Amino acid sequence: MLWVAIIGLVMTVLAVAVAGRRTLFLYKLATVGPPAPERVEYAKAHAGEEIKAQLVEVFGQKKLLKWTPSGVAHFFVMWAFFILLTVYVEAYGAIIQGAITGRPNFHIPLVGTWAVLGFLQDFIAVACLLGLVAFAIIRMKNSPKTLGRDSRFSGSHLGGAWLVLFMIFNIIWTLFLARGAASANGNLPYDSGAFVSIPLGNLLPQSELLEEIALLLHIGFMLVFLVIVVNSKHLHIFTAPLNVLFSRRPDGLGAAPEMRVDGKPVDFEDEDLDPERLGRGKIGDTTWKGFLDFYSCTECGRCQSQCPAWNTDKPLSPKMLILDQRDHAFAVAPYLMAAKGGDGAEANPHADTDVLALLEKPLVGEDGVIHPDVLWSCTNCGACVEQCPVDIEHIDHILDMRRYQVMVESSFPSEAGVMVKNLENKGNPWGMSEMKRADWIEELATSVDGQRFEVQLVDEKMPEDTEYLFWVGCAGALEDRAKKTTKAVAELLHIAGVKFAVLGPAEACTGDPARRLGMEYLFNMLAQQNIETLNEAGVKKIVATCPHCFNTLANEYPQLGGTYEVVHHTQLLSKLVDEGLLTPVTPIEEKITYHDPCFLGRHNKVYSQPRDIMSKVPGVQTQEMHRHKDRGFCCGAGGARMWMEERIGKRINTERVDEALTTNPDTVSTACPFCMVMLGDAINEKKNSGEAKESLEVVDVAQLLIKSVKGAS
Ligand code: SF4
Ligand code: SF4
Repeated sequence: MLWVAIIGLVMTVLAVAVAGRRTLFLYKLATVGPPAPERVEYAKAHAGEEIKAQLVEVFGQKKLLKWTPSGVAHFFVMWAFFILLTVYVEAYGAIIQGAITGRPNFHIPLVGTWAVLGFLQDFIAVACLLGLVAFAIIRMKNSPKTLGRDSRFSGSHLGGAWLVLFMIFNIIWTLFLARGAASANGNLPYDSGAFVSIPLGNLLPQSELLEEIALLLHIGFMLVFLVIVVNSKHLHIFTAPLNVLFSRRPDGLGAAPEMRVDGKPVDFEDEDLDPERLGRGKIGDTTWKGFLDFYSCTECGRCQSQCPAWNTDKPLSPKMLILDQRDHAFAVAPYLMAAKGGDGAEANPHADTDVLALLEKPLVGEDGVIHPDVLWSCTNCGACVEQCPVDIEHIDHILDMRRYQVMVESSFPSEAGVMVKNLENKGNPWGMSEMKRADWIEELATSVDGQRFEVQLVDEKMPEDTEYLFWVGCAGALEDRAKKTTKAVAELLHIAGVKFAVLGPAEACTGDPARRLGMEYLFNMLAQQNIETLNEAGVKKIVATCPHCFNTLANEYPQLGGTYEVVHHTQLLSKLVDEGLLTPVTPIEEKITYHDPCFLGRHNKVYSQPRDIMSKVPGVQTQEMHRHKDRGFCCGAGGARMWMEERIGKRINTERVDEALTTNPDTVSTACPFCMVMLGDAINEKKNSGEAKESLEVVDVAQLLIKSVKGAS
C-alpha cells in the first residue's frame, strides 16, 4: 500500500498548491479596489444576525428552496459536500493506515463505526446522485438552445456547468466503488447502515488492487474538482457564505447604499473631495465586496428570469451585469494587481492580447464593459436581489455606476435632466410652484359632505396633540390621480380620529428620484433640507402614501441624521380597521387584482396590509396575478425610470397590465402614486385599443376603503 499513499499524497500536495495559488490570486485581485470597512463593522456588530443568516440562507438554503425542485436538488448536493468530508477523512486515513500496517481498515475515532454514520454517508451520496439527475433534467428543459432568451441559463457558461456535474458524478461513483471494494475486503468501518456500499461489496470480488485503485480515483477526482472549482463559477461553494456574511442586512434592498470614497461616506462640504472619484468608473474602483459578488455568482439566472427589463426585451440582464464585470476584471487582473503593487503573476490565459487598452476601458459606455442602455434600463425594482441565492447586490453596482456617469461624466438620458432641474429649482420633479402643494387641502376642504374639512398645517412646529406628520409627497400633492389617494387618506385618518398635520409648501421632494438616478449631491441637498424642517418641527411619527417617500424617509434619512417612526398608509389604515376605528360597511361588488409596488413590497416587505384592507371590504373578490408579492412585477417607474423615455422593447407597464387583464378584473388596485400613473396609462391604451373594458380603472386601496367606509359612490 505504500505506493498508494505516495501517489495519493503527491496528488494532494500538487492540487492544493495549484488551488492555493489561485486562491491567493483571487484574494489579491479582490483587494485592488477601495476598502469597504462598513461591511466588516456591521458583521462584527451584528454577529447574532449574521449567524442566523448563515444558518437560514447557507445551511438552510432558504432562498433556493423557494425554487423547488432545483432548490431541493441543490439542498442535497450542498449537504453532500459537508457530510462526505467524513468519507474523505476515511479515504486518507485508509491510504495512510494501509501504508503503515498493510491493511487500510481505518475508521474515524469514536463515531467511525456507527451504523448511523455509514447510513448517512450512503444516503447523502444517493441523494446527491438524484440531485445531479434533477439538475441535468432542469438544464435540458431550460436550455437556451430551445428557449432562447426565455431560458434563465441564457448567457451562462453552460459547458462549465456540465463539467462540474460530470465531476460530482465521478466523485460519487468512485465513492461507492471504493466503499464497496473496502466492504468486500472487510475494510469498511461499518457492519450495517451503509445500505448501498455493503450490498455492492457483496457483488464485488475480494481484491486489494481494486480497493487501492478506487481509493486513488476517488481522491483524484475530488482534487481535480477542487482545482476546477477555484477556477470556475463553482467558486461560490467557498465565497457564497462570505458574500452572505458581508451583505447588507436584512438584504440589499430598502436603503440605497451610502456613497463612499476610500471607504468613508462622502461629505460634499469637504473641500478636499476629489470629484473624479465619485461612484465607480473603472473596474479598479470596485470594492472587495463587489469582487465577492463577482466570485459568488453561480450563473443560475434566477435574477435574469425575474427582471422586468429583461422580460420586456431590454438589454439589461442582472446576471450579465455581474458576469461582464467579472470577465473584464479577470481579463485585466495582472495589470490591476501590478498597479496596486501586487506581483501580477497570474495572467488569465483567455485575456485579450491588448490588455492595457482593456485596463482603460470605462465600466459604462458605448464601448464600455456595460452598455449605457443596460445601465439606464434598471428600475431598481429589487427582483434580482430578492431572488439571488447568494445575496448579490445588483442595485448597489448599478447605483455606483450611475453615480459616476451622472456626477463625473454628466452622461445620462437627457429627459431625466428636466427632472433634475425641476428638483433643483422647485423641489419637485414636475417643476410646479411649491404653493401648489397646498391645493389639495383647499379642494378637500370644500368637497367633504358640504362641511369644511380643515387639514392642519405645520407652522414651524407640529401642532399640539397631533400624532402623525402626513408626508404627502410630490405626486400626492401635485398629480391629479395621486391627489385622490391623498384626500382619501386624510379623510380616513380624520374619521378614525387620528390627529395629523402636513407640511404643505414646506415639504420638498425626499430626493428619491435624484438618488436613484445617481445624483447623490442633489439627494443630499434635498434630504438635509427636509431633515432640518422635520427636526425643527419636532416630528416623531410620519405616515406616507408614496412607497418611494416611505422608503427614503424610513431607511435612507437615518444615514443623514433624520430618524423617525415611518409607516406607509396601508400599514396605518390596516391597523385602524383592525382596531375598529374604521369600519368598511358598504359592499363593493368587484373583482380586484392587487399590484405590489416594488418599494413597498420587495424593498420593505409590506405585502399583507394592503391585502388585509381589501379583505375587510364587503363584496370585494380578490384575484392574485401570477407574479405577486416577492415575485411581483414592476410597473416600470422606479429607479428614476418614471422620468425617462422607454424606447427599447415592450413597455413594462403594458406587460404588467397585460398580466392584470388575464385575471379579468373590474378594478386594479395598488398602493403607490407612481404605480397608479404607470398602470393607469397602460390601461387607457388598452381601452383605446378595445383590449380592456371601459369601466376598468386603477385605484389605491385607500380609495376602496373610503368608498366602503363612507358609502360614497
Ligand atoms: S433591480 Fe429590477 S430592473 Fe434592475 S436589474 Fe434588478 S430586476 Fe432588473
Ligand atoms: S446574480 Fe445571483 S441570481 Fe443572478 S445568476 Fe448570479 S447567483 Fe444567480
